[in-house]
Amino acid sequence: MTERVAVYPGSFDPVTRGHEDIVRRALGFVDRVIVAVAHRRTQPKTGMFEIAERVDLIRTVFGDEPRVTATDFNGLLVDFARDNQVHIIIRGLRAVSDFEYEFQMALMNRQLYPEVETIFLAPDEHYSYLSASLVREIAALGGDIAQFVSPHVLEALRRKLSLPS
Ligand code: ADP
Repeated sequence: MTERVAVYPGSFDPVTRGHEDIVRRALGFVDRVIVAVAHRRTQPKTGMFEIAERVDLIRTVFGDEPRVTATDFNGLLVDFARDNQVHIIIRGLRAVSDFEYEFQMALMNRQLYPEVETIFLAPDEHYSYLSASLVREIAALGGDIAQFVSPHVLEALRRKLSLPS
């Protein structure tokens, strides 16, 4: 039987409990998930963590889950998927506000690579309002984000922001 592999692309700056939730749900119906951190050449230098740091954090967060790997990719997601013989793209849908962009991307990706299917997953409702950008903002303003990220990510954020642990 061929292995069912999915790619879960995004910025993951940093990986949050919402992302974790989506990956664990995907593992319910695929054999492996590749979490792929996109280099955004069109919007350079807008993030908090370097791409390699984001990949490391994802690897640490899923250290207990051999079916999850993390990597980064340059260029088009469909090229990454084709090169890695992946036919499933996983995306999370938090609210209607995500829908329009996600729908457009899914159709465009299908146009570019007809053998790929995008699957949208809804997170646990506790995470439906969570985004990495909000986590970065709250952390930078000294708010408590312990419930939104894993302990490793929390520590990394504190270090990055030179906050006491
Ligand atoms: P963010 O919007 O948090 O910066 P990314 O750009 O890394 O996240 O998003 C990668 C994918 O994960 C997208 O499909 C996004 O909709 C989804 N996602 C992000 N946060 C959540 C969440 N809390 N619940 C469900 N899906 C999420």
